[in-house]
Formats: sequence, C-alpha cells, structure tokens
Amino acid sequence: MYSLIINEIYRTISGEATSAGRICTIVRLTGCNLRCTWCDTAYAYTEGREMAVDEVLAEVRRLDAGLVLVTGGEPLAQDATPVLLERLCDDGYEVLLETNGSLDISGVDRRVTRCMDIKCPGSGQGDSLRRANLDCLRARDEIKFILADRIDYDFACELIESSDLSSRCTIFLTPAAGLLTPSELAGWILADGLDVRLGLQIHKYIWPEAKRGV
Ligand code: SF4
Repeated sequence: MYSLIINEIYRTISGEATSAGRICTIVRLTGCNLRCTWCDTAYAYTEGREMAVDEVLAEVRRLDAGLVLVTGGEPLAQDATPVLLERLCDDGYEVLLETNGSLDISGVDRRVTRCMDIKCPGSGQGDSLRRANLDCLRARDEIKFILADRIDYDFACELIESSDLSSRCTIFLTPAAGLLTPSELAGWILADGLDVRLGLQIHKYIWPEAKRGV
C-alpha cells in the first residue's frame, strides 16, 4: 500500500499560472529538497501526517473540485507521488503538478500538466535546475520564474532565449511578493517585447493576511 506525508488538503481558488482563478483542491505534500530565501510554505518542510494514497483520494473526492493541484514543499521528493498523480488522472481529475525543477519530471503521468518553478539567483537556489527536465517539456506544461530583482529577470531572459522556451510551453514571470512590484516587471516585459505572461499570485490579493491554507 502506497502512502505519503501530507501537509494539508483543502478546496480554494487557484492562485497562479493558467489555473489562476479556478476552483481547485490543493494537495500539499510535506518536505522540500531546497530552501528558497523567500519561501512562503516553510511550514510544509516538516509538518504533516502519513496518509495512504486511497485516503488522499477519498478526501479529494469529498472536496469535489474537478481540478487538483499537487504541490509542496516539493512533491517529487516523495517516492509515491507519481502513484498519486496517476490515480488522480484515472479518477478523471484534471491534475497539475507544481515542482521546483530540481528533480526528474520524466516519470510523471503524461496526463498531468507540469508547472515547473525554475529558481532564480535571488531565491538562493539559482543553480538547482535539472537541465534535462527542459528536454521533456510538452506544450501543455508551464514554467514559472519568481523574480526578486533585475538580476533574476536577466537570468530568466537568458534561459528563455537560450533554450527557446517560449515556443515550447507557457512561461510566467511573477514578481516575488514584497520584493518586486508588478508594474516594474510589466515595464521590463513591455520594453523587451517578451513572449511571456506576467503572473500575479492572486491568492495574495484575495487573502492578503493568510499565511497558509489559501
Ligand atoms: S522549492 Fe518551493 S517549497 Fe521548496 S523552499 Fe523553494 S519555495 Fe519553498
């Protein structure tokens, strides 16, 4: 029987990327192999309880959203996560996986949309990308860069151009909350004419005081 350490499962409005604004169930797994300076889910590093995959599926069913976002922490840090993703797809859910890009994504079920959060220098984890992950991107996948400053922006631009990312999947550039303003980032994107989307973490606008569970 497969089991996972689960930090929280709840129903909410998705805050980011192409699913932003949609009702979804969040399944947050415990544990992360990175330590980003601006991490807003540090409570998921160690807090959690063991649940069988069947128990997770039952809770997802109870919450009754067609879209399920599996996140962390870093979900792929747990061996049974691919099994959970496959079972969610088998049950007919639309499934998104949020991953930090440092672990192998090639074994993830093909029905899953993979949202890869590539770390920039300002996170303190700018060398964490597993480059081979870029080779298995599909058009339905998404890449997100969270930017703290102009150095991060230039880092993202260089990778987008050198790996021709804009033609391969959807790219989001998102300002790190409290470090870079949306208007400043919008100005840079406009000036450079980038083929990307400006991403805002809308859950931070809807529930500005909340520290978790949104
Ligand atoms: S990868 Fe995500 S969960 Fe892990 S430290 Fe960075 S922001 Fe936090």
